[in-house]
Amino acid sequence: MNERSGIGNALLSVVVPCFNEEAVIGETLNRLAAFCDQLEGFTVELIFVDDGSRDNTRAILKARAQLDASVRVVGFARNFGHQIAVSAGIDAARGDAVVLIDADLQDPPEVIHEMIELWRAGFDVIYGTRTEREGESFFKKTTAKAFYRLLNHLSDVAIPFDTGDFRLMSRPVVDALRAMPERDRFIRGMVSWVGFRQVALPYKRASRFAGESKYPLRKMIRFAVDGILSFSTKPLQIAIGFGMFSALLALAGIVYALTLRIFTNIWIEGWTAIMIAVLFLGGGQLICLGILGEYVGRIYREVKRRPMYVVQEYVGFSVQEPSSLRNPTATAQ
Ligand code: UDP
Ligand code: MG
Repeated sequence: MNERSGIGNALLSVVVPCFNEEAVIGETLNRLAAFCDQLEGFTVELIFVDDGSRDNTRAILKARAQLDASVRVVGFARNFGHQIAVSAGIDAARGDAVVLIDADLQDPPEVIHEMIELWRAGFDVIYGTRTEREGESFFKKTTAKAFYRLLNHLSDVAIPFDTGDFRLMSRPVVDALRAMPERDRFIRGMVSWVGFRQVALPYKRASRFAGESKYPLRKMIRFAVDGILSFSTKPLQIAIGFGMFSALLALAGIVYALTLRIFTNIWIEGWTAIMIAVLFLGGGQLICLGILGEYVGRIYREVKRRPMYVVQEYVGFSVQEPSSLRNPTATAQ
């Protein structure tokens, strides 16, 4: 493996998506600044993507960007969602290595030191695997676990278990990721798909420093569906399986009815049996139609070719930089 020990003053980009994080963002800024001070041999840029927060998050970030040249802010025009905020941060990052980290300090910035060591040793993706998850509900932990297992079962790409977006990626991986234009983004799966040398780094996930989770059940379900549909077409085969199953059931019913008719005096009658058959088939068909609809919806979103996000303002970037970013409409400050 070719080591990167010879890298002199490399640039490290840390991407932090933030949505209504005013309760925690000050502390996050301090912890990340402390982390930067400890880091040797690196210049660091901290890219905060404000995902259309409705509280003071943006104001706090902008104030800090005025004081600290390493702090940069990408301010979205509205809330586009976590995965898109991360994508925007990746687009804006100029680093030789890019780290993704949540704003709520659940992922300890100190772990990045170990990630850098592994990056220096030649790995391209170092992803944090949660050995423990403090302060998260039993429901969230069990559903997350079940989701990762189901996803791996369905997906053609091996997506590591119990792994969030907390990770370090080398420039080649970042470039490969940026070349993937899909609108429905499931970053951790996309990074697995890219390949290169990837390694897990176990760490203990802390509880949220302050504030509440910005992932209510609705967003979690959307995220899980995105993960599965982006990485598998197997749900489409459910229709085939279901069709074969009900056809077999119908066949058994016919044989049964005919046997009774021929060998006994009993007739199968009554609308209960009919209702059950109709409801069973109708329900199954609607489910299959729904699955099909989900895929068609995704195709529709792709063919519209809208930009993935709209940036209202870039703060702390030098004047030339934003024009080379993906969204040409935004203004730099
Ligand atoms: N987040 C975001 N946009 C959203 C929801 C969340 O940028 O629409 C950010 C949030 O500020 C945090 C990260 O995504 O930095 C993870 O969210 P959260 O901690 O609420 O999720 P959880 O850890 O509970 O799964
Ligand atoms: Mg969190």
